Amino acid sequence: MIDFEKVKLKVNDKEITIGCVLESNGSTANLKTGAWRSKRPVVDFDKCIGCGTCWMLCPEGCISKREDGKFEIDLDYCKGCGICANECPVKCIKMIMEEK
Ligand code: SF4
Ligand code: SF4
Repeated sequence: MIDFEKVKLKVNDKEITIGCVLESNGSTANLKTGAWRSKRPVVDFDKCIGCGTCWMLCPEGCISKREDGKFEIDLDYCKGCGICANECPVKCIKMIMEEK
């Protein structure tokens, strides 16, 4: 049995477990992976045609359909890979640098 208290590191005021080991079941929603990003996607909702391509291809599952049929990105979990921006057929997602 691993004693997680003994294998923690402090990075930027945040305690993390070595090897990013999950300490308990069902904890994924609590891990706000958006902090890992260097670029973030910004959607131009005026141009979005609601095709769902970004939603289908996002490896993080952090895109969801809005009531108006367009798709929005949950930046708490988006890791900034840029697949959505690359694959959007009308190029209405732009990747912009994160500001620190
Ligand atoms: S940048 Fe990557 S992780 Fe973020 S919403 Fe687009 S496809 Fe998903
Ligand atoms: S891929 Fe582009 S046009 Fe299609 S739903 Fe996503 S943002 Fe809208």
